[in-house]
Amino acid sequence: MKYVFEFRNQNLTRAIARKISQVAEKIGREVRLMEVCGTHAMAILKFGIKELLPPNVKLVSGPGCPVCVTPDEYIDLACTYARDGFLVATFGDMMRVPGSNTSLIREKSKGRKIKVVYSPMDALELARSLPMERVVFLGIGFETTAPGVAASISAAEEMGIKNFMVLCGHKLIPPAMRVLVEDPRVRIDGFLCPGHVSAIIGSRPYEFLVKNYGIPCVVAGFEPVDILQSINLLLSQISSKKIKVENEYTRVVTPDGNLKAKQLMEKVFNISDSQWRGIGVIKDSGLIISDKYSLWDIQARFPVKVSSSPEDRGCRCGEVLQGLIEPEDCALFGDPCNPYNPFGPCMVSTEGACNIHYRFGHKEDKIEAGN
Ligand code: SF4
Repeated sequence: MKYVFEFRNQNLTRAIARKISQVAEKIGREVRLMEVCGTHAMAILKFGIKELLPPNVKLVSGPGCPVCVTPDEYIDLACTYARDGFLVATFGDMMRVPGSNTSLIREKSKGRKIKVVYSPMDALELARSLPMERVVFLGIGFETTAPGVAASISAAEEMGIKNFMVLCGHKLIPPAMRVLVEDPRVRIDGFLCPGHVSAIIGSRPYEFLVKNYGIPCVVAGFEPVDILQSINLLLSQISSKKIKVENEYTRVVTPDGNLKAKQLMEKVFNISDSQWRGIGVIKDSGLIISDKYSLWDIQARFPVKVSSSPEDRGCRCGEVLQGLIEPEDCALFGDPCNPYNPFGPCMVSTEGACNIHYRFGHKEDKIEAGN
């Protein structure tokens, strides 16, 4: 409890907010700070951080929700494997993500074998306990979840379990940050770097953003004091023109990250180009299973081709994911698109910007009152 009080202390948050206002006034222009982590996006709205900031400091959300950046093609592949008789094991928030013209939940309603699990190890156990089934785990997520999937593949090798496979869709955050700063439509003055991803990769991988692009970076924790203090550090860098990578989340993140997790990822995966929903292919931004572990790579063992032609549902997730628009700028936000009737992945996932804005963005009352 002491921990929570310390990082939610009202006097401290007010004092930091005052400091932010002073530095922002000194800067004297609009400053756009981007977070690339769904948990940050949620904490910012849930704790009313935006209301504590002066009008010239804008917080925008980037592609920090792993489900949201997973493209239609991946969902189409997963549904194809389910139709071909594989038992698909997945995290629950993938169930309602729309593919080109179907989703896992629709396929399940037609009797396909699709099961929600809580971890890749649960999927491995499923494969062990059902030796006649061919179990496919949907490996999606950033550097935070990739080590767990690497561990399950490594364990499958050790245990000799060959009916467990992974459909690998993992993505890496720093290459996406590079693409965003190079896009002239996306103006970013600083990054709140993701706390969970940084716990694995450390704070050093953001140094290229300082060196090559002069973009301030602060690794931030998830409590109100963490986020406000990180904003304060970013503004102070901008004001003093002393740009660097700082680590506010020192109680979890180190410069080099989690060496064991990184070694596990290096052992099982190779780096590859990857398709991001709404952004396109980003060089060296994905992980694929290395040849040594191809026995656990469903695409190597049972390759299938899908031709994805997404329906135009009017969804603007691509623009939301790049911080080009706010979820409320989408004409479908709230009605008809809401968490009970999602049109796009940003409304499906609890880490998606549209879902978070619907739940915490003070629009909910208005929408519900209008229904
Ligand atoms: S509100 Fe719905 S339709 Fe609009 S961008 Fe978000 S998920 Fe897509």
